[in-house]
Amino acid sequence: MPDSSRNRGSWTTPWFDLYPPVKPIIIHRAPWLVTVAGAGPAAGAVAVAGGRILAVGEFTELRSGYPGAKVRDHHNCALVPPLVNAHIHLELSHLAQPGPNPVPGSFTAWVAGLLARREQLGATGENVVAAARQTLDQQHRSGVIALADIGNTNTAAKLAGAGPLVLHFREFLGLTRNAARENLALLAGEPEMNRCTAHAPYSTHADLITGLKKRARQRGHLFPLHVAESAAENELVSSGSGELKDFLRQRGFWDDSFQPTGIDNSGSVRYLHQLGILDERTLCVHCVHVGREEAGLLAADKARVCLCPGSNRFLGVGRAPVGLFLQHGILPALGTDSLASNRELSMWREMRLLHEDHPDLDPAAILAMATLSGATALGIGQDYGTLEPGKSADFLAVPLPGGIRTPGQLLDYLVTGGPAIKPVWI
Ligand SMILES: [Zn+2]
Repeated sequence: MPDSSRNRGSWTTPWFDLYPPVKPIIIHRAPWLVTVAGAGPAAGAVAVAGGRILAVGEFTELRSGYPGAKVRDHHNCALVPPLVNAHIHLELSHLAQPGPNPVPGSFTAWVAGLLARREQLGATGENVVAAARQTLDQQHRSGVIALADIGNTNTAAKLAGAGPLVLHFREFLGLTRNAARENLALLAGEPEMNRCTAHAPYSTHADLITGLKKRARQRGHLFPLHVAESAAENELVSSGSGELKDFLRQRGFWDDSFQPTGIDNSGSVRYLHQLGILDERTLCVHCVHVGREEAGLLAADKARVCLCPGSNRFLGVGRAPVGLFLQHGILPALGTDSLASNRELSMWREMRLLHEDHPDLDPAAILAMATLSGATALGIGQDYGTLEPGKSADFLAVPLPGGIRTPGQLLDYLVTGGPAIKPVWI
């Protein structure tokens, strides 16, 4: 028998059914509104309710549209979309090196140092989790809403809780045919929805990369991997020789089966293109050693790019050809990479370093890389990336110094202020 006392209108109907709670509308007003959705910065307001943005625009319009709304003023602030860190390894946070961190003698020397340090300090355990959690908290405090986190331990699983959205990817690598076979067997046992990816073309056998990409494609998962990070990588991929090969051979990671045959492997991007890895869900991280034709391949394949200027500077591997990417219609995302290859993990600092490396870049484009492009790359553009109706009401109020009078001055401050910028979450 249906319970007629629950019928709407019955005298026994609970009051909260008759009068569902109205979600309070709040209008956030600030002297600067930076939507990253087209129009440049201007004074404005954002109306929110129930965790979503209802409207964005001039305060007077929003005020007349929502006359009962509460108004919250953010004096001397800019309202800005939250940041997206498109590349990090939380599980390497305990490997930060104190001191001045001189640029390593070579890329291989850095890899060797990292492996030695990880052997000495451990790859798992309470100290690893504690350092990762500290990094995650710091990311959130600095205004990061989401991260693409790469790792090969179970550290990320122990970080559940409040804070940024962590899209975790289990990373596989192995350059010999045997290692590829073993890892493909492991991959077959991975829980269905776990996201899995390859480390890099210089560390992962072609059979393993293609197997991993096939799995990611079947599940609609993003596929982030390190690409064209160092000259040594390109040398190994294109000629099967150089310092990386010597290093891998010494460690027993080389069996001559890696050398690609029958495909054009003159550069990591071309190699991945020929393997059929590149598509709109492939996120190519670093992309420092990429020429004009390879940039064209990335664009034609609709592949995504993530730049890590802080890590590139730390390792001395060079500067990514950002102008080339923009010419080809690719707006890269930005990532900090890990404390094993970066002095400090701050998306504000990454924007500043990119601006220093490429002073001609439009500051609006740099801000869009740290917000819109990261959100799009991670597949969360429906919620984040810009301030627009329907998106999440999690955004930032950035306190501003005195003297900012023009949109240009504001954008300059946002991309050069660095870690001194201390945003407040709305
Ligand atoms: Zn990385």
